[in-house]
Amino acid sequence: MKIIAGVCSAETESQLLTTAGLLKIFGIDTFRAGIWKARTRPNTFEGAGDIALEWLKKVKELLSIKTMVEVATPTHVEKCLKSDVDILWVGARTTVNPFSMQELSEALRGVQKLIFVKNPICPDVSLWAGAVERLARSVYDIKLIHRGFSVFPPTKYRNEPMWELASEMRKEFDYDMYLDPSHMAGVRSLVKTTITDGYTRGYDGLFIEAHHDPSKALCDKNQQLTPQELFEEIEKNEKLFQKSEN
Ligand code: PEP
Ligand code: MN
Repeated sequence: MKIIAGVCSAETESQLLTTAGLLKIFGIDTFRAGIWKARTRPNTFEGAGDIALEWLKKVKELLSIKTMVEVATPTHVEKCLKSDVDILWVGARTTVNPFSMQELSEALRGVQKLIFVKNPICPDVSLWAGAVERLARSVYDIKLIHRGFSVFPPTKYRNEPMWELASEMRKEFDYDMYLDPSHMAGVRSLVKTTITDGYTRGYDGLFIEAHHDPSKALCDKNQQLTPQELFEEIEKNEKLFQKSEN
């Protein structure tokens, strides 16, 4: 199973270096970090912004780890390209908007970068499909992330999996499908069992949040694992699923 892990949000240079350094020790080669955070309400932590691109450059240079950032606007794309971010992703609040997807697609024309597309917030597969089709006009290297859907009334998940919707996308598109247990589950104990769902259901990879000290995280602290915890879960599942394959 391919694993992408990293902080919900870049907070400081030392937070990035510490978390990425630990993840690297555990064999992770791609580090995610949100820089511009689309928070539901203003006046909460909205990400460190442009300065974090400099921190990420350092992470990449010192640790030889690939970096991955969320983009929601053409300006984000331009800044990431300038700062040599390796991989981009589109978040659930952006996939939902065809205007935004069209703009991103135009900004990415001719750019040879891998880009991941999360499912939209609402349980509508055609919005997800449309987002991917728009991007595919410009970009050939696309992968998908299933992070669950917002439903009412709320369930034990932060975002209800609705596994069948991700299966529909997997049937329609031949792109790798990653699972995001962090935003799907929302709390650590459920994140751990959701990781196992990813293995059971044959996902191509995991896209998951980790922080060297989750209790101090400025964003999504309840769903972030320490690198050590993440490593233990991965190791447990790898053993279990290797055994069942033999
Ligand atoms: C994230 O991955 O940091 C994020 C904001 O997730 P989502 O777009 O799934 O809410
Ligand atoms: Mn998050």
